[in-house]
Amino acid sequence: MATQKAQLVTHRLYFDDPYLTEFQASITERTCVGNHPAVVLNQTAFYATSGGQPHDTGRINGIEVLDVTVQPDGRIAHVLAAEVQQDRVQGQVDWARRFDHMQQHTGQHLLSAAGWHLWQAETVGFHLGAHSSSIDLNIDQVTADKADAAELWVNRAIWENRPVQVEMLNPAQAAKLPLRKPPPVEEAVRIVEIKGLDLTACGGTHLRKTGELGMVKITRLENRPKGIRLEFLCGLRTLADYQLKHRTITQLANSLTVGYWEVAAATDRLRQELKAARGALAAAESGLLEYQAQDLIRQAETAGDLRVVRQVYVDRDRQELNWLARRLTAEPSMVALLGTGGVKSHILLARSQDVDCDMLPLLTSALQLLGSTTGGGRPEWAQGGGPTADSRRVQQALDHVLQLLLDHQN
Ligand SMILES: [Zn+2]
Repeated sequence: MATQKAQLVTHRLYFDDPYLTEFQASITERTCVGNHPAVVLNQTAFYATSGGQPHDTGRINGIEVLDVTVQPDGRIAHVLAAEVQQDRVQGQVDWARRFDHMQQHTGQHLLSAAGWHLWQAETVGFHLGAHSSSIDLNIDQVTADKADAAELWVNRAIWENRPVQVEMLNPAQAAKLPLRKPPPVEEAVRIVEIKGLDLTACGGTHLRKTGELGMVKITRLENRPKGIRLEFLCGLRTLADYQLKHRTITQLANSLTVGYWEVAAATDRLRQELKAARGALAAAESGLLEYQAQDLIRQAETAGDLRVVRQVYVDRDRQELNWLARRLTAEPSMVALLGTGGVKSHILLARSQDVDCDMLPLLTSALQLLGSTTGGGRPEWAQGGGPTADSRRVQQALDHVLQLLLDHQN
């Protein structure tokens, strides 16, 4: 039984050498995953998705490897873009992606070690994402200052260029070690040690020395119901992040004509200025509207006992029309017939409280002339709109309303 199982299990070349990118192997099984063919190999350098670390990509006999999955019995399936005809194959692992994962994963070990040494917090979750990675720690709260201290601790460990060593131990040997997190398995245990700093069981791919990490940056600190989540970047991702942020802050500083360290203060100043300018503009607009309303009241036509303001604009703001109508009908005996033509035509008919006349049928008649039936309101205030219309057509519609008003007066 043991022999049979040993034959089934795919030998993982990356356990011994995570820097190996090319290898020879034999296909031991052919299968299908979804619509894609998949092969199991007797040995592989491809890492299969597990332990929070995504799979490798690359090629097998020139055919693209889309996914790599590990079965419960230890077989590793390589999902391919097309069928491989040969039984002996040559595998090639995409080194850029593998090295990136090695950087993120080794960085995770260091951050977890920092959490353990500085806060006695255990790492209870790890996710290596396409853009950033995260660990979950079982600790109530971490301030930004504390996160800075952990970041410094980790980066010091990088500058010290400590060796990362891997060893396979049986469970009895592993039980004697002061592991940060004891493994749940009862079989041979793969122990990863960052010399002098961290000792843990792990099946992932790691760097030889911490110096290859370059730099680790915590990018986000999130308090969660059962602990905290630290998002972080390692290696090339940190450099790319620095480049992007440097470009962004430089552009901002240039457009604000300040030094980059003054951007926050300058933005705050701009926000205050914008608020003041908006207030001043609103006051000016209000003054202008009042002036226009006075002008309209002066020019109001007399129709029997009524004073009628009839005015048509082009593309006039709807809110301003409303304001004018409210202001005009605050006067006694006033009827306001306002309209705007342009991209969208709109008619607003309003009257003072002391005028006995229903605006709704008048609006219906006006809208008919504009070819629209979209409108409504109350006896003292009715409005509606139509499709694109020339101001002259809106004027004609209001002339018609005035005539109806005069007929009503007589
Ligand atoms: Zn690991």
